[in-house]
Amino acid sequence: MDRRQNPARHRRAGRCGKGRLTELLKTSHTQTQTQTTRHNKMAHENDNKDSSKTPPPVVEHFSYEGAEPGETLVIFGAVHGNERCGPEALLRLKEELDSGARSLEAGKLIIVPVANPGAYAANTRFLERNLNRSFYPKPPQERKAYEDHLDDQLCALLDEADYLLDIHSYTAGGAPFVFMGCRDSAEKEFAQALGVEHFVWDWSNAFYDSRVEAKAAQGTTEYLRGRGGRGVTLECGQHEDPANAEVAYTAALRAMAHLGLIAPEAAPAAPENKTPHYAKMVTAILNTPMTAARPFRHFEAVQKGDLLAQSPDGKETVTAKADGFIILPNPNAVAGAEILYLAVAEEPFPSPQKTPRKTPQHGRSGN
Ligand SMILES: [Zn+2]
Repeated sequence: MDRRQNPARHRRAGRCGKGRLTELLKTSHTQTQTQTTRHNKMAHENDNKDSSKTPPPVVEHFSYEGAEPGETLVIFGAVHGNERCGPEALLRLKEELDSGARSLEAGKLIIVPVANPGAYAANTRFLERNLNRSFYPKPPQERKAYEDHLDDQLCALLDEADYLLDIHSYTAGGAPFVFMGCRDSAEKEFAQALGVEHFVWDWSNAFYDSRVEAKAAQGTTEYLRGRGGRGVTLECGQHEDPANAEVAYTAALRAMAHLGLIAPEAAPAAPENKTPHYAKMVTAILNTPMTAARPFRHFEAVQKGDLLAQSPDGKETVTAKADGFIILPNPNAVAGAEILYLAVAEEPFPSPQKTPRKTPQHGRSGN
C-alpha cells in the first residue's frame, strides 16, 4: 500500500508511556539513512581497491505478490540464531507458495526464514552482537561485529513494509505471547489476530529507562514503527518446545489473512473464548552486575515492594514499583543483558467501554 494514501501512518503514537524515544529514533533514522548512502558509495570505491576482502554475509529473502494491491507484510525468522521455530515455519510456508499449493490474493509478502545466518549456522543467539538491539543501518566504518553487516539488508526490507511479524522463542518455559508497541489500535488488532492470549507492550520505553543508549533500545519492530509501519514480535514458547513451529506457522497464516493477503478461510480460525491478558513493561533490570533475588517464573505475580534483584555486594537493590508480573527471567543473562522485566496489568488502546444505560429522569411534571 502506498503509505501516502494512508493518513493513519502519519499519526503520532499516542498513549505511550513516553513519546521521546520514538522522536529520538526518528531523528537518528534520517541521519543514518543519509550517512548510509554516502558511506555505501565510499565502501564500493574501497572494495574496488581491495578485492581480497571477505564478502559480507547475505540475508536471503523471498517475495510474493498478489494480483490485487494491498498491505506489505514482512516476516522474519531467526533474528536470534538458536530460535529455530521461525525458519521451520517460514520454509514450510515458502514451499507451499513456491509449489502453488498456496497463493496470495492481494498485497505483498516478504519472508526472511533466517535473518541471522551466521548465528543460525552456529545455533547460537548471536555471534558478536544481539541483532535485535541497536538495530539500524550502519555505515561501513561502524560495522565491527558480524551482525553489523546484517542490519542494512534487513532494514531495506522493512523500509517497504506496512507490517512486520518477527518470530522468536524464549528461554523461560511458558505459553506463546506477543510483544507489541503502543503505536495504535491497528497494531493491537494485528497482534490479536495471531491467536495468542498474552500481550506484553511498551518494551522499548522500559528498556530505554534502564539507562541504555536510545538506539540500543531499538529492535526490528521499533525500527519499523519509527518508519511509520507496525510490527509485533511473536514469542512462540520455550526454545526446545516442539509445538513452536506450528504456533509460528499458524500465526503467519493468521497475519496474512488479517491483512487480506490470503482469504480468511485459508488460515486456521483463532481459538474462541480466550480472554486477552495485557502487561505493560515498566522496568528492565540489566546484569550490571545484578542477579535476580530468587528464581522467578515467566509471568509470575509479584507485589509492590517485593525484592526483584540485587548487586553481588547487596548494596544496590531493585524492588517492584507496583503490583505486576515478572517477564522473561533469564538467570544466564550475560553482562549488560536483561535478567528480568517487571510489567503491570494494563491494556493499550482499551476497547471503548459500553455506555451505561441512562437512568430515566423523572421530572416533577411526570409524563
Ligand atoms: Zn529471540
